[in-house]
Amino acid sequence: MAADETELGRKRRARRMARELAVTHPDAHCELDHRNPLELAVATILSAQTTDVRVNEVTPKLFARYPTAADYAAADRTELEGLIKSTGFYRNKADSLIKLGQMLVERFDGEVPRTIEELVTLPGIGRKTANVILGNAYDVPGITVDTHFSRLTQRWRWTTETDPVKIEHAVGALIERRDWTMLSHRVIFHGRRVCHARKPACGACTLAGDCPSFGLGPTEFETAAKLLKGPRVAELAEQARLYREAKGR
Ligand code: SF4
Repeated sequence: MAADETELGRKRRARRMARELAVTHPDAHCELDHRNPLELAVATILSAQTTDVRVNEVTPKLFARYPTAADYAAADRTELEGLIKSTGFYRNKADSLIKLGQMLVERFDGEVPRTIEELVTLPGIGRKTANVILGNAYDVPGITVDTHFSRLTQRWRWTTETDPVKIEHAVGALIERRDWTMLSHRVIFHGRRVCHARKPACGACTLAGDCPSFGLGPTEFETAAKLLKGPRVAELAEQARLYREAKGR
């Protein structure tokens, strides 16, 4: 794609890539286990500086012990800290969970609110977390800008912004609103499984034809395929092989 790509050209390319991502990652979803908005809010607070897998290990017991906002508000701090210790920064996180419970009870009748403006007033909940909650618990489209999302959208020249809120708005202008939540999951999956921070698997990537950063990682198929990660490595490699064949690469 030319350096002087027009806005319309960028939008078309971004939407093409978004469609390809949907085919490449049909299993993309919110990886934090939850059954309701409160559980998702709690899980996202716990996910700071740790993996979703680690969070999912502690939440079954936690959710059983504290089923409502009032339960967090009245929690015994030492007991709560013990339950979440393995997620790291457990003192701060326990503090956020207790304050979250208190504020939900005091200001929102114990319910997790449904607007970004209200969500970001809650302890431990920033814009990224608020968008996760809106998109996945309330079906309100939201773009989640995490480290993968920022890296990939910059590599793809969807935006030159580096500030998460500006990235969110820039990508929001390219992609249809109804697709925002699933796009976020798919971009994050692509970042985890294909387009790694250090060595992206360019030669085994189904976005190669539309990616201005193709060549950042190995472009030879066999070498690149070894860099793929996750439970669908074989499928990802096969999709990439077919893609290369179709493009005559
Ligand atoms: S071609 Fe390379 S840099 Fe571009 S999205 Fe694929 S893995 Fe990432």
